[in-house]
Amino acid sequence: SSTAAKNYDSVMKILLIGDSGVGKSCLLVRFVENKFNPSFITTIGIDFKIKTLDIQGRKIKLQLWDTAGQERFRTITTAYYRGAMGIILVYDVTDERTFQNIRQWYSTVNEHANEQVQLLLVGNKSDLGNRQVTKEQGEELARELGLPFMEASAKNDDNVNDLFLQLAKLIQEKID
Ligand code: GDP
Ligand code: MG
Repeated sequence: SSTAAKNYDSVMKILLIGDSGVGKSCLLVRFVENKFNPSFITTIGIDFKIKTLDIQGRKIKLQLWDTAGQERFRTITTAYYRGAMGIILVYDVTDERTFQNIRQWYSTVNEHANEQVQLLLVGNKSDLGNRQVTKEQGEELARELGLPFMEASAKNDDNVNDLFLQLAKLIQEKID
């Protein structure tokens, strides 16, 4: 066993799901590395990033899983969902189809994820002017599905820290 002191109080596994191109990888890169890359980030294999947050004096290690391009083929495995404490459902506010597909992602979650999982709905790319989905439509779907909701921009760094923080707080409340 390791003699190194554990530098966190708990670990939370969090997944990002949603159609290909909605900005899941960019949200992660913005949150963890505070960078934005305007080109498509191709993830090969299973990838995760780590970031530690301080929530009410507790060090929470977030293990953030990215879907590695599998979402294009809708072949995300059950194993990916296993053990997730939080799942962020992401759509692109400039692409109505990705918004309509949220219902499908939501049923996949109900099928494969833990019953206790905390969800969060996110409309990304709020910086863009060519919207196809209004904030009100996002709020309405969130109400219907019973999910908390936020709009965000990985590009402009709008609400990115907040969305991960809010999700982690909601998970923490469930654990306490
Ligand atoms: P993923 O397939 O869901 O992981 O999507 P990516 O993170 O690879 O992003 C897909 C494309 O959308 C890339 O060209 C990104 O640069 C772009 N993108 C991601 N987030 C934003 C955003 O907040 N605003 C804008 N304008 N573009 C974004
Ligand atoms: Mg990606």
